[in-house]
Amino acid sequence: MPRERISVREVGLRDGLQSVAAVMPTAKKCEWLSREHAAGIREFEVTSFVPARLLPQLADADAVVEHALGLRGATVAALVPNLRGAERALAAGVHKIAVVISASESHNRANVHASVADSVAQFRRIVACARATERKISISAGISTAFGCGIEGAVSEDDVLRLAATLAEAGAAEITLADTVGYGSPRVVHALFASAARLLGGLPLVGHFHDTRGLGLANAYAATQAGVRALDASLAGLGGCPYAPGATGNVVTEDLVFMLEACGFDTGVDVECLIGARAVLAEAFPAEPLYGALAKAGQPRPARKE
Ligand code: ZN
Repeated sequence: MPRERISVREVGLRDGLQSVAAVMPTAKKCEWLSREHAAGIREFEVTSFVPARLLPQLADADAVVEHALGLRGATVAALVPNLRGAERALAAGVHKIAVVISASESHNRANVHASVADSVAQFRRIVACARATERKISISAGISTAFGCGIEGAVSEDDVLRLAATLAEAGAAEITLADTVGYGSPRVVHALFASAARLLGGLPLVGHFHDTRGLGLANAYAATQAGVRALDASLAGLGGCPYAPGATGNVVTEDLVFMLEACGFDTGVDVECLIGARAVLAEAFPAEPLYGALAKAGQPRPARKE
């Protein structure tokens, strides 16, 4: 029986780097992308089109997008915080624009200084702007703090589902449910993705997990059991959590690939090649912690042939 395909999406160049104070040279980012592409990764969130004074780490957004667009078969996504960012991303030539809105009112206000309703109104303007271009642009809507919020604590499932339905109706091509602060647990993750799948029909759902409390991979697995076939991750789990100093970052890309392959999914990724790509991060950030169990322990020995 053919194995079911699952897409592992590298978001370290955006989610990881924005949590690291040091600036990675553009050439290193390009090398990072090329090496992961060679390993088989085909979807990348490569940057965020924010003002350079806010995130100097991502000031080279145009150059990084240009490099990524040259990688054969790759889908190039960029996060945009507002309409101005969307215009820049479209001009740069991205295939996909990612917009994130928090399910928690307090988190959204702290993060983007806008109410959730205002952010939804802006999302509609971004969709209209993307549809006005000649190219076919996919709009990805992310719901951050979908499993809990560092300010409000619990986030109600109804609030998340209502927001997801609104964003789907407004033109989102896919919905990401993000555990921004690592509050999710497998049972809750499975339940929320299952509810979202029922509500949204066939709209693709994406899981975005942080390993803040050590449950990142377990949550990713739970999402696959609810039908999710696209998961975000960062090479070496680069980055951290702005709300929990010292905490780890996203789920580790190479560990996620290893787990999914072991569970019978086809990721299309060569995990050894992926582990080799960590060298780019080790050279660029000698002081930054790199996470990941597989890089430390190596792959298990294959079964002995009879
Ligand atoms: Zn994240």
